[in-house]
Amino acid sequence: MSEKQTLGFQAEVSQLLQLMIHSLYSNKEIFLRELISNASDAADKLRFEAINNAGLFESDSELKIKVTFDKAARTITIADNGIGMSRDDAVTHLGTIAKSGTKEFFSKLSGDQQKDAAMIGQFGVGFYSGFIVADKITVESRRAGLAANEGVRWESAGTGDFSVETINKEDRGTAITLHLREGEDEFLSAWKLKSVIRTYSDHISLPILMQKEEWDEEKKEMALKDELETVNQASALWARSKSDVTPEQYTEFYKHISHDYTAPLTHTHNRVEGRSEYTQLLYIPSRAPFDLWDRNKRGGIKLYVKRVFIMDDAEQLMPVYLRFVKGIIDSNDLPLNVSREILQESRDIKAIRDGSTKRVLGMLEDLANAEGDEAESKKEKYATFWKEFGQVLKEGIGEDHANKDRIAALLRFASTHNDSDAQNVSLADYIARAKEGQDKIYYVTAENYAAAKNSPHLEIFRKKGVEVLLLTDRVDEWMLSFLTEFEGKTLTSVAKGDLDLGKLEDEAEKKQHEETETQFKELVEKMKTSLADKAKDVRVTFRLTDSPACLVADENELSGNLVRMLKAAGQ
Ligand code: ADP
Ligand code: MG
Repeated sequence: MSEKQTLGFQAEVSQLLQLMIHSLYSNKEIFLRELISNASDAADKLRFEAINNAGLFESDSELKIKVTFDKAARTITIADNGIGMSRDDAVTHLGTIAKSGTKEFFSKLSGDQQKDAAMIGQFGVGFYSGFIVADKITVESRRAGLAANEGVRWESAGTGDFSVETINKEDRGTAITLHLREGEDEFLSAWKLKSVIRTYSDHISLPILMQKEEWDEEKKEMALKDELETVNQASALWARSKSDVTPEQYTEFYKHISHDYTAPLTHTHNRVEGRSEYTQLLYIPSRAPFDLWDRNKRGGIKLYVKRVFIMDDAEQLMPVYLRFVKGIIDSNDLPLNVSREILQESRDIKAIRDGSTKRVLGMLEDLANAEGDEAESKKEKYATFWKEFGQVLKEGIGEDHANKDRIAALLRFASTHNDSDAQNVSLADYIARAKEGQDKIYYVTAENYAAAKNSPHLEIFRKKGVEVLLLTDRVDEWMLSFLTEFEGKTLTSVAKGDLDLGKLEDEAEKKQHEETETQFKELVEKMKTSLADKAKDVRVTFRLTDSPACLVADENELSGNLVRMLKAAGQ
C-alpha cells in the first residue's frame, strides 16, 4: 500500500494534545529535548539491533543528530540516522498511545495545569510536545534494513487526524520538521537553539550537530555556513568523572531517562571495580509514578554493556521493593548479546544487584541520618521520600533478609509521642526515649490514624507515659510478621495476649493486680461459661483505665486488624 492515507488519532491522543499544548506552554522549549531524546533512543535501538546484524548500519555507522532551521520556511528539523520507522511503525507509534495504563493516566489528571504537566512528562508522550510550538509536523523516516523506496512521510496538524504515505528516502533514520506556529519565531535562531540544547540535552552521548554561524560583513548579520559543529559534550554522562558533571546535568539526565519533569531527590554515581566491573548512576525520584502499584510494572533501570544500550527496565538489577529507583547500570563484563533469560542466571548480575541495593540504602541513610550543613534539607528530602515511597520500602523487610536491619532503621512511624499522623519516628528514636527498664517496642495496628490513636489498648500506656507506635499502612501487618525485633527489643502489639509490661510494672502494682484477680475469680469463671462459644478466654485486665472492657487477640493469632483486611480482600 503506497497511496496516501488519512487516519484518525485515537481519542486519547487528541485529548492529550490539547492538554499538552495548554499545560506545557510556559515550558515550551522542552519540545527540543523530547525530540532529541527520541533521536538518541533511536540510535540506541539501532546499535542494539546491529549487535546481531551489522548490515543495519548500511554504510553509515557514525550515529548523530542534526538540528537545522529555515528562516524563510519557518521550520526546524531534527534529523537522526538511528533505527528509523516503517510505515506501520509510524502509524502505531505516532498515532496511538500504545502504552499500558493509558486509561489510568487519564483518570489521574487533576485539572491543575502544573500537576498535569508533570504527569504528561511521566507518561512519556514526548513526540507530541512538538505541537506546542508547531501547527504542523512532518516526519520522514526509513527503518534500518528496509529499501530506499520503503520510506514513510507522516504529517499532522495535531488536531483530529494524520496522514501517511510511502516515500523514497535514501538515508536511513528519521527527520522531524516542525512548521512553527505564528509567534514562535524566537526558535529560528542558532543562538536560541544552541542554548536550549546545552541546557537540556548536553548529556546526550551522540553528537548533536548544527550549522556554524559567521558574521556577514556585507549583510551585517549572522550567516549560516555549510560546515557543521558539535554543540553538546557528546559523551555518555555516566562515563565522565563526577567532577565533570554539574548538578544541573545530573538532573537533566534524570529527566531524560525517567520521563519525570521534577528533579530527583538525590543520586549516587560510582564506578565499581573488582570481580565485577560496572558503573552505576542511580536516582531517587521525588514523586511516586502513577503506576507504582501496578504489578506488571518493571523497575526503572536501563542496562548498558560497555556504553551500548541493552534494555530498559532490567528488573533483575534491582529488588522489587526498590522499584522506584531510576538510573543506568553499565557493565564491563556482560556479553553484548545478553538476554533477559541470561540475566536471570548471571552471577555478575547478582553481584551488581547486591552492590546497587547497598548503594541505594546508603543513599537513603545519607538523607535520613544527615548531620551538619545540609542536615535540614536532607531530612526534609527523606520525609518526602518516606511519604512517596515508604510503603514500598517496607516490602523490603520481608523481601531482603540480608539488609533487613538497615531497612528497619530507615522505617518511620506515626506515634503517640507526636500529636499528628506524620510518620516521622524511627525505631532508634523510640528506643532512645524508652522508659528505664522498658525492653519492648510497643505498637498498635489499625485501619487508620484516628482508630489507632483512640484504641482502648493505649490507655495504660498513656497513663504510664510509654510511647506506642501507630501503624496504619496496608503492608504493616505483613511487614510485622518479619520484623519481630530491633536492636534487641521485641516489637510487641499492645492488643495481643496477656500484656506483660515487664519491668514497667512496679512491685506494689503487681501485688495489687494479684489481689484484684483473686477478688474477681468467681465473676470471671461465670463470664467464661456464658461466653463459652463467643470468647476463647476472659481475663481481668489492667491495660484499661477508662474503658470497661476490650477484645484482645491471642498471642499467636491474627490480629483484629489483619482479620478485617483479609475479609476485605475476600479471604
Ligand atoms: P517515548 O519516547 O516515551 O516512547 P514518544 O512520544 O517520545 O514516547 O515517542 C513515541 C514513539 O515514536 C517512540 O517510542 C518511537 O517508537 C517512535 N519515535 C519517535 N521519534 C523517533 C525517532 N526519531 N526515530 C525512531 N522512532 C521514533
Ligand atoms: Mg520520547
